[in-house]
Amino acid sequence: MANTACDAIIIVAGVSGLYQLYRLRELGLKVRAFEAGGGVGGTWYWNRYPGARFDSESYTYAYSFSEEILQEWNWSEHFSGQPENERYFNFVADKLDLRKDIQFDSTVTAARFLPAENQWEVAIESGEKVRARFLITAIGILSAYQMPRIEGIESFQGQYCHTARWPKELIDFTGKRVGVIGTGATGVQVIQEVAKTAGHLTVFQLDANWCAPLHNAKIADTEQDALKARYPELFSRCRSTMSGFLHQFDRRSIFEVSVEEREALFEKLYGEPGFGIWLANFRDTVTDERANAIITDFIARKIRERVKDPKVADILIPKDHGFGMKRVPMETGYYEAYNQDNVSLVDLRATPIERITPRGVKTSVREYDLDILIYATGFDAVTGAFRRIDIRGKDGQSLTDKWAGGPETYLGMQVAGFPNMFMLVGPHNGATLCNIPRCIEQNVEWVTDCLGYMKEHNFQRIEATREAELAWTEHVYEYAQKSLLSKADSWFTGANVPGRKRTVLLYVGGQDNYRKKCDEVVARNYEGFALG
Ligand code: NAP
Repeated sequence: MANTACDAIIIVAGVSGLYQLYRLRELGLKVRAFEAGGGVGGTWYWNRYPGARFDSESYTYAYSFSEEILQEWNWSEHFSGQPENERYFNFVADKLDLRKDIQFDSTVTAARFLPAENQWEVAIESGEKVRARFLITAIGILSAYQMPRIEGIESFQGQYCHTARWPKELIDFTGKRVGVIGTGATGVQVIQEVAKTAGHLTVFQLDANWCAPLHNAKIADTEQDALKARYPELFSRCRSTMSGFLHQFDRRSIFEVSVEEREALFEKLYGEPGFGIWLANFRDTVTDERANAIITDFIARKIRERVKDPKVADILIPKDHGFGMKRVPMETGYYEAYNQDNVSLVDLRATPIERITPRGVKTSVREYDLDILIYATGFDAVTGAFRRIDIRGKDGQSLTDKWAGGPETYLGMQVAGFPNMFMLVGPHNGATLCNIPRCIEQNVEWVTDCLGYMKEHNFQRIEATREAELAWTEHVYEYAQKSLLSKADSWFTGANVPGRKRTVLLYVGGQDNYRKKCDEVVARNYEGFALG
């Protein structure tokens, strides 16, 4: 490699950045990672709100590449909580001695490609500038958190916080008047937890979500060895499913079976741990609106059974989308929380928030006095984290401008006009709709092999061709048309960001297809890329 300050710069030391750092170091490259936070773990560093936990089975979220790490680490729950998850990423960072190449508390603000030098120059908030041949973004799809656009947020005299910037100090809710705005996967986890101790909890709900039971459980010490022995089988199963989870769609159509048979499958899946009710259901429940209406009706019945007050149950039943058309929040006693005297639900569609006041939240009908206000209002997903960095390609073009009409990428890994820049879990990447570490490993290994290939052949530059980029983008859109996941207003399409154009952000063709395509590109000597 040429004589540069370092060979590769990785932006952010989260789940993908840590593994990429390790692999590039193994390849013999000099690598530096810049991390905005004070520690490793990305999502699991920032999202330390009460109740935060995996919705993937813990042992399928683990890195699979190191037998030693797999055998040494014990997961204590089937769906482990944030404190343990953060400890896990610290354990991995220590075990692989990764910290020495990570600069913490260092937010990357800009990156520009210098064509004459074939290098990227990266600017850090502190004013520091660093150069490297390769730039690898490992910035995550759910990292650019968004506060709602409501007047008066700063005027609130109590304590307030977005869930993705939760403080390290514990917040005691005992006896307090707490408000939560937002009922996505995060809001659901916070609400069911805070409801246990709050003096009174008021939930401010815009649109309801279809939630399903997580069925978490402890993993007994006596189970650890048997579980560890199953790692090869578990990972191989994840590789064989569309989404990288353990759950595989039932190949039958819902219309091939009797009413009794389909009800029996629904009941079974609803009673089992994890995403099975969504991802192991009849295959057409996420592709055919008539099939989707049947599973949607089943979940609505469950909500009515579990929530005592029929009026409250009605507010908790979504009206704007079917089950599984948005990412399904997994819950533990979420619906039962609304049967408690200390929990009340405000329907913002009927009584919108007018403003935040020094005392609390003012809706069109009354003011709610609060001590603590929690914003579980989500993220400017997938492309939001890119927009927060001024990234400029070989002609000085900004990535934000290039993607103004929606992202265009090749394999969700590279962008034409931005040579030597790789995106882990970038827009339109197969890892965007996946049990994230399973697909992250594929991304990281693909990028590592590519840089190894370049080293071997003494190539200095790699860039996706515009033709390959257009063809991949078209392919991504074709799959999106077939899926109900692209039809609801959620972070899947950017429709959750006020004023943003609705677009296709994810690849819904399945991680199995995606892997195959990536492997084919390599087999054809990096077809679709210009190397030089
Ligand atoms: P989200 O799904 O986008 O939910 C945001 C919530 O805030 C929605 O209920 C939204 O209402 C509400 N909201 C936004 N702006 C509002 C406003 N101005 N006034 C009132 N309400 C407003 O975000 P999230 O819950 O953080 O989840 C995002 C993703 O993170 C999940 O889908 C999942 O992939 C991931 N996640 C995973 C886990 C896990 O278990 N591993 C846990 C949490 C999150 P509308 O829907 O009506 O817009």
